[in-house]
Amino acid sequence: MLIDFHTHFFPERIAARTMQILRERMAEINNIENLEDRTYPICTDATLEDTKRCMKRAGVDLNVLLPIATRDGQSDNVNNYAEMVNDGKNIISFGSVFPYQKDWEYVICDLADRGFKGIKLHPEGQQFDIDGKEGLRVIKKAVELGMLVVIHAGIDPGFEGKPHSSPLKFRHLMEETDGSHIIAAHLGGLMQWDDVEKYLVGTPINMDISYVSKVMDMEQYRRIIVNHGPEKILFASDCPWQDPEETLRDLRSVNLDEESMELITYKNAKRLLKI
Ligand SMILES: [Zn+2]
Repeated sequence: MLIDFHTHFFPERIAARTMQILRERMAEINNIENLEDRTYPICTDATLEDTKRCMKRAGVDLNVLLPIATRDGQSDNVNNYAEMVNDGKNIISFGSVFPYQKDWEYVICDLADRGFKGIKLHPEGQQFDIDGKEGLRVIKKAVELGMLVVIHAGIDPGFEGKPHSSPLKFRHLMEETDGSHIIAAHLGGLMQWDDVEKYLVGTPINMDISYVSKVMDMEQYRRIIVNHGPEKILFASDCPWQDPEETLRDLRSVNLDEESMELITYKNAKRLLKI
């Protein structure tokens, strides 16, 4: 079995435009002329149908959709779409809340009532600090209601400035809440892995491996997985930003033992998702 814990796709009518905006912004910030540069090709057109094809090709049995509400008033649409595509078998959708929206608490309680297993937060896309007031209240409430919280971690190539979810900020967050319901994406902090080793390795927080093998030193990748503990690492691609086929090939290339591979590729996910 293979579970991809971090994927994105959008309603058909906005998928192409959304991807174009995201890719152009990344290219501009990073002075990239060619969008097919190794780090920025995409493996789907970010629609549901194409994502299904991509998952099938890679041998993924179940993928977790992580939508993000990036402004006030958007969470209803985002969560309704997430609920619609959730089939509980091949696709499990998380919900989203914009941390600054007035009715944030209602939105989270409603998501829990509707059976959502978790929420996704993006501190760059949503411009909040995970250890600040708005971040803490949302994260703590979701955890209190038994939901998982997946949080973008580290630098995001589509945004400038200091990251709002650095490994040190995750460390602060864990003084306020237990990390076992939290999943820090991108192996704890995209492009900040020395700090991940300093502040997060060995703590109770979960980490996913989405996207990182495209840009990371694979010795450090292996070291973080082994030292942090494979029971807290989740297979994840960040599709369409990385093809799960590539994620799996790269994970296999660091030669972990069989038990670790089983935990990472599906057992940890099944435990966290309670399936
Ligand atoms: Zn992502």
